[in-house]
Amino acid sequence: MTFSSIIVAAGSGSRAGGDKQWRILGGKPVLRWSAEALLNAGADELIVVVAPDALDRVADLLSDLPRWRAVAGGDARADSVRAGLAALTCSPAQPVLIHDAARPLLDRAVIDRLLSALETADGALPVLPVADSLRRGEAQVMTDVVERDGLWRAQTPQAFRRSVIEAAYAAWADAEAPADEAVVVQRNGGTVALIQGDPRLMKLTYHEDFAMAEALLPRQTRIGSGYDVHRWGPGGSVWLCGIEVPHDQTLIGHSDADAGLHALTDAILGAIAAGDIGDHFPPTDPKWKGASSDQFLIHAAELVSARGGRIVNVDVTLICERPKVKPHRQAMRDRIAALLDLPLDAVSVKATTTEGLGFTGRGEGLAAQAVATVELPAP
Ligand code: MG
Repeated sequence: MTFSSIIVAAGSGSRAGGDKQWRILGGKPVLRWSAEALLNAGADELIVVVAPDALDRVADLLSDLPRWRAVAGGDARADSVRAGLAALTCSPAQPVLIHDAARPLLDRAVIDRLLSALETADGALPVLPVADSLRRGEAQVMTDVVERDGLWRAQTPQAFRRSVIEAAYAAWADAEAPADEAVVVQRNGGTVALIQGDPRLMKLTYHEDFAMAEALLPRQTRIGSGYDVHRWGPGGSVWLCGIEVPHDQTLIGHSDADAGLHALTDAILGAIAAGDIGDHFPPTDPKWKGASSDQFLIHAAELVSARGGRIVNVDVTLICERPKVKPHRQAMRDRIAALLDLPLDAVSVKATTTEGLGFTGRGEGLAAQAVATVELPAP
């Protein structure tokens, strides 16, 4: 069934400490989650109602998405919904889903249930049962119990045919601010069906709601591996896993030649399929001559954050006969944990020799390999 949609995002969201519709959730602004959900579900058109001074901002945010327009809303929610309705181009009989931007985790199944319900009702409202018992209280003292039988928690989107919601708003006395569109239609004599809502469709109201919503996001686990080799040459110390280790040789390279951090940087880039360290920091670029490899690692970690992901754990193996790694292993773990902002038990550094065999055994070079586990938002 075709449908149109309106997202109301003109509120100030002061209880969450500012404009919550612009806050980042899982790597995307809150508003974008609902816009993508409605368009991916097949909305013919999407009207995004924002504060007048946010029209440019929403244009940037949704520039790559199809079939949407932004209009300026009003101070009251009802004014914003009216502005959204006025901007629709669909027929009077077309279903319109009206949604709060502050409910980003909108599942296709809820949209399907709303559209089905409109086949027999004038409106449809997603609801959840009230599980906790309800009390009335004053000044931190309980004064009464409220029977929860017949009570439901109302969510959005709420669905109506365009002609039904427009007629209901036309009949609404402006002296009273309606809680939502379902109230407007029901008071105008319409039947509003209650359909099964979704706990993930929670409204982001308080700061702590964002942490809960992050935890609810579908995630995928990714693994990347990295490998690096540098050649030994004359010197007095060597950089390994972010630590300067006294030694009678050094590793030769364009940067500080820290093979441990290079392998780890590649492992993290590999987990997010973001190329390799040479793509991001070309050895031909004089900017990286003698550079500390710390910044390569931090850059890879920032790319993970920018995708809404997080590094879960890392494991580095240094392969050499000398220097002895064990006396420095704790310092290396501490350094990597600090650079990646990880707990120490998520950072492993190991060492092995190759029993005198091969280029590492002959002391020609040092090799390092690493794996990293990353969690990303599911596509
Ligand atoms: Mg290297």
